[in-house]
Amino acid sequence: MTNEELIQTAEKVLNPVTKDGRLHGDVGAAVLGKNGKVYVGTCVDTPSWGLCAERSAFAAMITDGEYKFDKVVAVWKDDKTGKLYVLPPCGVCREFMRQIDQGNLESEVILGKTDVKKLMELIPYYEWPAPLE
Ligand SMILES: [Zn+2]
Repeated sequence: MTNEELIQTAEKVLNPVTKDGRLHGDVGAAVLGKNGKVYVGTCVDTPSWGLCAERSAFAAMITDGEYKFDKVVAVWKDDKTGKLYVLPPCGVCREFMRQIDQGNLESEVILGKTDVKKLMELIPYYEWPAPLE
């Protein structure tokens, strides 16, 4: 699956819905697991807890028994202009991706049609620190 196809897959799950003043589904994510399957998710925003689209997609992947991924992307569409944006993952999602399997540090995060970074490039100082002398 190409990065463009993964971006399109993430776009397909966009479904913005406002419930009780909270916006859900305006960010979509798609992740290609090491098993070759694609998992999708959208963001959820409740007063008690919020979940990014990426972690929503990873939850589906983990539910299927997979913990490693090849690449991930999240997108948001501006309703006013119809333009699609690729969003970089937030810090919580970056750490989550690392913590579900350390091997994911080598996985790719899609940041645009031609812009891709390894997860480790997006998490400086991820290693456990040495004790103070
Ligand atoms: Zn996030």
